[in-house]
Amino acid sequence: MAECIECDAAISFPADAVEGEIVTCPECGAGFELVGGKDGMGLKPAQTVGEDWGE
Ligand SMILES: [Zn+2]
Repeated sequence: MAECIECDAAISFPADAVEGEIVTCPECGAGFELVGGKDGMGLKPAQTVGEDWGE
């Protein structure tokens, strides 16, 4: 379980999720990549190639 960076909603992911897996926030639809950290899995904004974030 982690918190959405965009809207602070709780995002759950499978216990066997692996680093690099993409999860989507159920609240705002933002995509995040799972990253491993010393305190467990964390999220970082997914790099979506070709997607226009501006408009
Ligand atoms: Zn969100």
